[in-house]
Amino acid sequence: MSTTEVENYPGFPEGVTGPELMERMRQQALRWGAELYEEDVVSVDFSKRPFEIKSEDRTMRANAIILATGATAKRLRIPSEEKFWSKGISACAICDGASPAFAQKELAVVGGGDSACEEAIYLTKYASKVHLLVRGEEMRASKAMRDRVLDSSDVIVHYNTSVEDAAGNAQGFLESLKLVNTKTNESIPEPLKVAGMFYGIGHTPNTKFLDSQLGTDEDGFIIVSDHDKTSTSVEGVFSAGDVHDKEWRQAITAAGSGCQAAISTERYLQMNKLLKEVKMMDTKDAKEEIEAAKKKEAEAPKKKTHEPAIDADNFDIDRQKHQGQYALRKLYHESPRPLVVMYTSPTCGPCKRLKPMLSTVLDEYEKSIHYVEIDIAKDPEIAEAAGIMGTPCVQVFKDKARVAVINGVKMKSEYRKIFSEQLIESSAA
Ligand code: NDP
Repeated sequence: MSTTEVENYPGFPEGVTGPELMERMRQQALRWGAELYEEDVVSVDFSKRPFEIKSEDRTMRANAIILATGATAKRLRIPSEEKFWSKGISACAICDGASPAFAQKELAVVGGGDSACEEAIYLTKYASKVHLLVRGEEMRASKAMRDRVLDSSDVIVHYNTSVEDAAGNAQGFLESLKLVNTKTNESIPEPLKVAGMFYGIGHTPNTKFLDSQLGTDEDGFIIVSDHDKTSTSVEGVFSAGDVHDKEWRQAITAAGSGCQAAISTERYLQMNKLLKEVKMMDTKDAKEEIEAAKKKEAEAPKKKTHEPAIDADNFDIDRQKHQGQYALRKLYHESPRPLVVMYTSPTCGPCKRLKPMLSTVLDEYEKSIHYVEIDIAKDPEIAEAAGIMGTPCVQVFKDKARVAVINGVKMKSEYRKIFSEQLIESSAA
């Protein structure tokens, strides 16, 4: 979930952050007997029963499936987008806005819907000014959102304005935008000087991996039945949340949709005599289990990998995983191993997704690769020196040289490939 503050989720009178809400849901699912695998599904086969689901690590079979893969932010596809991607252009203000490169700089947000308004307001925390570029005569955002933007002295709204292209500085970072007046279709002579441009122009559903095995509309959103809003064109396959919902896209509506899909799935399995009961841990057992796990962890000999080292008191070069600038400096200068650095920020939802995934991959290289996590909010000067303009960002160093940069969340195989390549080169050298 890439939203920061969720203000309209019932039961959280003070609001809750997206990542915290997700963590609580995860724990609740575990308590109810769910088994979680944090990996990407690469293909599904709905022609077989049970259905077949493949990730890079395993093939699973299921009598019923709920698809809740959400939607990904759209890009504008201006000519120099690739050149400045993660060097000033981003589709996630929430993930990337805290980057020191944007601090007290003028920034732009493209779009006039709720997402764009939310991003613009969020960025006022960091920017000296935010320019909201709206292609039409007015914003289509809800009145509450519009009012927040219009009431903010830090946001300047430019109506009838779209972006034609971008230009950069000598270091290759975004410096200005070439704008067009959409009413006259003429270029605006004065470029808009901004250090960052964030897209808030809608979303594309994550349905490509389904390979047209399900009915979708022309934009790729799954078509669900009018009857229960969750059944799809394949019996036994259900849909929940933004992957079919173009309109509401709230955490609470997605959660409601997930609940509908779960009940529909249970009914389907029951009707087809496929239901297998999983026993929920009762609260007493669950508490006991958590206490037992805590005790076991406390008693276990300090076993390197999972506890990150922070300063001279607990830094131990024999450990694989570390945290913070002290460890980064030590490892950069003293480690003979390839060094993986992950830059994160506290409000970054994708970072929360990447951390356990990357940790699993790193476990395979426990003795051969070092790892440090840098929170860009805690160590802004390190992030600035590393040229970080978005999180998550993984950089790989060997012999003090940066040999790879991976922005965003990729498949495990991509990280494995890069880590292994570095090790092969090390042993060949
Ligand atoms: P929307 O589809 O509502 O808005 C997209 C915006 O981007 C529109 O203003 C559109 O312009 C503009 N746009 C689209 N393509 C381009 C382009 N190529 N160039 C320039 N501008 C472009 O998407 P959102 O993601 O904002 O919202 C989707 C749904 O999610 C809505 O129902 C919204 O209410 C909900 N939402 C709610 C939030 C909240 O309440 N906190 C937060 C975020 C989303 P135009 O208007 O001219 O078509």
